[in-house]
Amino acid sequence: MKETVDVRLKALVLAFSVFVLFNACQKKVEYYTTNDFESVKKTDAHLHINTPDSRYLDFAAQHNFRIISPNVDAGTPIGEQMNIAAAHRKSHPENFAFLGTFSVDSFGNPGFVEDVIRQIDLSLEQGASGIKIWKNIGMALKDSADNYVMVDDAAFDPIFQYIADNEIPLMGHLGEPRNCWLPLEQMTDSGDYRYFKNHPEYHMLLHPEAPSYEDQINARDNLLRKFPDFAFVGAHIGSLEWNLDEVAKRLDEFPSMSIDLSARIGHVQRQSIADYEKVLNFFIRYQDRILYGIDITISEGGDRFDDIAAGMLKKWKSDWAYLATDSVQTIENISGEIKGLHLPKTVVNKIYYDNANRYFNAFQEK
Ligand SMILES: [Zn+2]
Repeated sequence: MKETVDVRLKALVLAFSVFVLFNACQKKVEYYTTNDFESVKKTDAHLHINTPDSRYLDFAAQHNFRIISPNVDAGTPIGEQMNIAAAHRKSHPENFAFLGTFSVDSFGNPGFVEDVIRQIDLSLEQGASGIKIWKNIGMALKDSADNYVMVDDAAFDPIFQYIADNEIPLMGHLGEPRNCWLPLEQMTDSGDYRYFKNHPEYHMLLHPEAPSYEDQINARDNLLRKFPDFAFVGAHIGSLEWNLDEVAKRLDEFPSMSIDLSARIGHVQRQSIADYEKVLNFFIRYQDRILYGIDITISEGGDRFDDIAAGMLKKWKSDWAYLATDSVQTIENISGEIKGLHLPKTVVNKIYYDNANRYFNAFQEK
């Protein structure tokens, strides 16, 4: 008799647990809609504001976007980029932050390390939330013997040690999309095709004397092996945009690495047309390691404000539809219909806000 009661009790407890679990799961998964775009707190973690015109920041704020603007060792002089960014940071601390950068012009000179550290310190004094390094390291910088200098070159070690010791977040745009090393007809993106067709000087396939795609990726990986504690954001999906399995390998090997989606989300969308579940699983699995950004550069004085702002909004909304909803859209340069990933609210909140704020600690909660 007692045994029967035990069995019944066990069955009852099991049934009840399943019921509770079922309800918990049902309750937990909530989703945003297209209309939630405006109300959800968001960060564009890779958008270059190189203009003193603060209307772009106000425009972002109107749509509940904060902006992290990386300075870059290219284009507008670094000092000017920093002055513009520091002024925005002072006037809009609640929705603008920036990353400083450094020039490598003094590479090979006796005071190189000190010079770079001085530039890093100056950026931080001016309010930078981190430092960005760029593809000129690996693709343009050469030593006195005319060899390309890669990012894992020992000459940089004391600089990266300084960054690691001081827990300075580091964003690295290293290398280029793999298409840059492929023949034009094999490129997976018609935007890349047009760009490299018009700019053979940047089409690395035509420059076999320069480091290969694999050389670029290996150098970045070596850097992370040397400095495993970096808070490192691999810009543009860590230049592994063509295959999320390759990204996953790095995220597994380097626990402190994250990626931003900027300028490469089309490559993700193309992969989700081919294998939707694979892409969805990637975003769920690495939900704490992905930052949202679009990577446009605004340098103009404000004459084209309306056009540029409209373009930003269009891109932001298209990406929102892809990441947060299950709506279907077609996008320039990609053949086929793209169905949204419909990520749960909790995941969207991380990709759009929590992850960037954890890495760069840029915005104070009110
Ligand atoms: Zn950029």
